[in-house]
Amino acid sequence: MEEKKTIFIKTFGCQQNVADSERVATYYEARGYMPVTQEYEASLVVINSCMIREKAEERVYGYIRNLRKSRGVDALRIVLTGCIVGAAAREPSGKLAKKIARRIPDVELLPIEDVGFEHEPQRGDNSIDGDQGKHAWVVISNGCNNYCAFCIVPFSRGKEISRPIEDVISEVQKLAADGYTSITLLGQNVNSYGSDLVREQKLKNKDDGESSAYLLPSGESIEPVMVKHLNRHRIPTLFPYLLNTVAQIEGIETITFTSSNPWDFSDALIDVIAQNKNIDRMLHLPVQSGSDKILAAMNRWYTSAEYSALIDRIKEKISEVQFITDIIVGFPTETEADFQDTIRLVKKVGFVRSFTACYSERPGTSATGKMEDKISWEEKKRRFHILNELINLRNAGIANDKDWIATRDKHSVR
Ligand code: SF4
Repeated sequence: MEEKKTIFIKTFGCQQNVADSERVATYYEARGYMPVTQEYEASLVVINSCMIREKAEERVYGYIRNLRKSRGVDALRIVLTGCIVGAAAREPSGKLAKKIARRIPDVELLPIEDVGFEHEPQRGDNSIDGDQGKHAWVVISNGCNNYCAFCIVPFSRGKEISRPIEDVISEVQKLAADGYTSITLLGQNVNSYGSDLVREQKLKNKDDGESSAYLLPSGESIEPVMVKHLNRHRIPTLFPYLLNTVAQIEGIETITFTSSNPWDFSDALIDVIAQNKNIDRMLHLPVQSGSDKILAAMNRWYTSAEYSALIDRIKEKISEVQFITDIIVGFPTETEADFQDTIRLVKKVGFVRSFTACYSERPGTSATGKMEDKISWEEKKRRFHILNELINLRNAGIANDKDWIATRDKHSVR
């Protein structure tokens, strides 16, 4: 009797990986695999990997090692997909590909691009914080063109590719018809969504003129919003139009989007959020550092003052807005004075939550190639704890001002 083909998908990392795994499930279902809820019931385990930090990457190797120990080499087919596979294919030195071959030699590799967008996601229990209705992740773009000095995403996911605008809109319409009330639009940088679509259309039409109007298949013409990109040139984005259109779809009560870069968060986008009450007032706006020197070294194209001014502009138009951020501590050359700049900015903005990370080298990134990671792990942890207490613990009501001062003083003793 032929053995039953069963699949278990293990997802590491961000929401984009969660959304990708929903399409991986359909990809394998089309190949005869039935989903199971436990690893030990599966004949195939697919691991959707993350390698945003060294720790995340090690977690993936550790998981595979344990799987092999518990199931044996022959009993189980293992497929690795996601960021590690993407980065190995693009990382110029080839070191990562060699590392994979050495550490997990009997694992098959599946580039996530092979799964594509044509597989309809199998949506599981996608409830998010405080969400009472049905929630769905909706991927609007993949990849990133920004090359922040610490970030592996341009290698792990490649160049930014936007999904056709009409595909995203019809997916959300279908979700609403299926009873979904809450969606999150996902992209590595949603604010530059559509610039590739506009560029492609101009190339196709041999249009080298000033106008950048984008023509939808319906014949409707959209005027993209020009945003500053990498401080060097301006690019057209369709994100304000897309967000506004999605917000009008009947039945969609809450829309969240992530991630947004501060440097191309346009005034038009602020207006769209202000005008549509169903767009979440909790905005995720990664700052990474409050020091201008570190921001420049990170290849982030704004200063602390520019970030702060953007926050003020948003607050002015959307009074009930709150902010979540990402911060990296211990980036090469970050001094105590640089860290204090971050503390000052954090206090000024009043973030309600931060995804804080200790810097670690990532293969292929410019920081790894050009800068030495000299700050000790203990020092990174000290800065991490101070920020964690200042933002997350205080907002969760776990720590108060006195606690924060005590933590700061405790961790200031070196
Ligand atoms: S914009 Fe975001 S995803 Fe892109 S390189 Fe910078 S940190 Fe990475």
